[in-house]
Amino acid sequence: MDYLIAFIIFLYGSILTSFYILVGMRLPMKKTVLGRSECDACGAVIPWFGLVPILGYFLVRGQCATCETKVSIKYPAYELVGGLLFALSYWLMRDNMVEYAIVSIMLSLMIIVTVSDLEHRIVPDRVLLMFLPILLVLRVLFPLTNWVAVVLGGVLGFGIMYLLAIYGQKRFKQEALGGGDIKLYLLIGLFLEVQLVFLSLFFASIFGLLIGQFLKKKMTHVPFVPFIFVGVILAYLYGPALMQWYLGLF
Ligand SMILES: [Zn+2]
Repeated sequence: MDYLIAFIIFLYGSILTSFYILVGMRLPMKKTVLGRSECDACGAVIPWFGLVPILGYFLVRGQCATCETKVSIKYPAYELVGGLLFALSYWLMRDNMVEYAIVSIMLSLMIIVTVSDLEHRIVPDRVLLMFLPILLVLRVLFPLTNWVAVVLGGVLGFGIMYLLAIYGQKRFKQEALGGGDIKLYLLIGLFLEVQLVFLSLFFASIFGLLIGQFLKKKMTHVPFVPFIFVGVILAYLYGPALMQWYLGLF
């Protein structure tokens, strides 16, 4: 039964992700997120079967029926990853539906801002403002530890990123971290709470430095949000065990 529910959540998660891709792609361009999906090249309306998550790409044979412009393989890839993340978090949290709901909201936020950072190098304020009150209220009501840790997490997340940004500016004479990354970390801090927020940034920086080295040769500006996303997932899943092990050393 659990397998069936996980599979349904995978399908539902990939549908949600395909909507989040649209939000992440269109919001920074000040376009409406409602209305039918169109071909980016010629504006032709995409047929209904092209909108089926993951499979839609294959049903339209990877191109627009009207102008034959190729559709990027990244769309079904995003949908697959998004669906898997929703299903996996259900699997891990199926005994705690409140926590699963909070994690789903966090996943939604991270998918939108990751797409928007990858596509436009922007973390839209409107998205952050929409998620901030929801995350704040839910986390204060249902914290991992207590509400003080929630508030401190938000303040510290923002604070550390702000200091890092100032340091980066002085050290490298260019903007290493955008304002969007800093504000995003306020929300991440609320979600992870004070005990895990450092750890997530530590993971994000390690991945960012390692993989960023390769990407730097191909891109002028390496997006940091995808690494932040990985850092948040690792800190959330392994942070508590890692902290316990670390504190056990003393
Ligand atoms: Zn077209």
